[in-house]
Amino acid sequence: MALTVLRYPLSSILYLLLTSGMRDPSQYISRRAMGVDASGIRKVFDLAAKMKDPINLSIGLPDFDVPEVAKQAAIDAIRAGHNRYTQTQGIAPLRERLRQDLSAQMGRDVGEVLITSGVSGGLLLAILATIDPGDEAIFLDPYFVMYKHILTMAGGKAAIVDSYPDFRFHAERVEKAVTPRTKLLVLNSPSNPTGVVMSEAEVRAAVEVARRHDLLILSDEIYEPFLYEGAAGSQFKVQGSAKLPSPAKLYDKTIILRGFSKSHAMTGWRLGYAAGPEAVVSQMTKLQQYTFVCPPSPLQHAALAALDVPMGDAVAAYRRKRDIAFERLSRKFEVVKPGGAFYIFPKAPAGTTATDFVARAIENNVLVIPGNVFSERDTHFRISYATTDERLAKGCDVLCSLV
Ligand code: PMP
Repeated sequence: MALTVLRYPLSSILYLLLTSGMRDPSQYISRRAMGVDASGIRKVFDLAAKMKDPINLSIGLPDFDVPEVAKQAAIDAIRAGHNRYTQTQGIAPLRERLRQDLSAQMGRDVGEVLITSGVSGGLLLAILATIDPGDEAIFLDPYFVMYKHILTMAGGKAAIVDSYPDFRFHAERVEKAVTPRTKLLVLNSPSNPTGVVMSEAEVRAAVEVARRHDLLILSDEIYEPFLYEGAAGSQFKVQGSAKLPSPAKLYDKTIILRGFSKSHAMTGWRLGYAAGPEAVVSQMTKLQQYTFVCPPSPLQHAALAALDVPMGDAVAAYRRKRDIAFERLSRKFEVVKPGGAFYIFPKAPAGTTATDFVARAIENNVLVIPGNVFSERDTHFRISYATTDERLAKGCDVLCSLV
């Protein structure tokens, strides 16, 4: 009797002792996850969800739909039974075609090709395959948000080089950021969020820096088809529509990252590709085996068909939109004329932070993204002009009226 009486209080005490040291679910979270902020773009999207029919100039995806030929090819591929895992590196006909096309454009064999789950997949695998804890990667500010966070996840260090106010590649600034731990130079041309396209001279300068310090270049060329200034007669133009000055044309220690999300409006299909030296791409492939396994099978077949769809009309439409946005915004804002992609990055009016200016824009039903999402500075804001001409013009006029 005495024992049973005792047992309850004792077990309760023991229970209390044990649970007091137990982890709350939030305490399972790794430093890796805690080191990464939720995307600022998502925060703006959440705001947008509460607005009634906003003029949305925030979204980084094309406003045209996937080409009909590609949709049909995806349906056919599903019906034909292409629904299982593919080889880790992607289906052979797509890889071979991309290797041929890229090699023709770059004027040399580009090496191995890996089909990835979006360019995001390619970025993650390239960084995981090359960056050890403490290794450094250089990229320009403003930057595509993912670079910084993937580096954090890999335990690497971002060496962020300011490119304001012209957003050009200043070799001397980049050179100063190189340390003995620098392994990667990440380039993004045409750029998200500025729309700036690196000139041939800048690409040459970047390659010289990479050669001098023996760096690997990661060249994020996801916006490659969206180029608005011709480079006819250029030494960089190797064949066909290869207008983009790419470091891969000059430097074989380059990993090219491209994809279908923007070029064919397939952001939800999750398809991209990486090409470069076998020693690196084979490691990326190994890592894909244990992460993404393979890119979506039927959609790889559809992407092969999509490669033959001419997208010139979409590019022409975006050039027109670029002109509308630049012409209107430059009436009131300090703004660099973009040469590609579908973004423009004006400076917020003097005396206001970009965050405050964007809050006012949102009060006036126009959705744009504050520059501090893409930058260490909070002085500019990003407009995506992938919307109808009317909405774009209206949105730009509202923004101008707030100055
Ligand atoms: N790089 C840049 C510069 C981007 O803007 C994006 C998407 N916004 C990506 C990579 C990733 O694209 P995805 O994974 O859809 O191919």
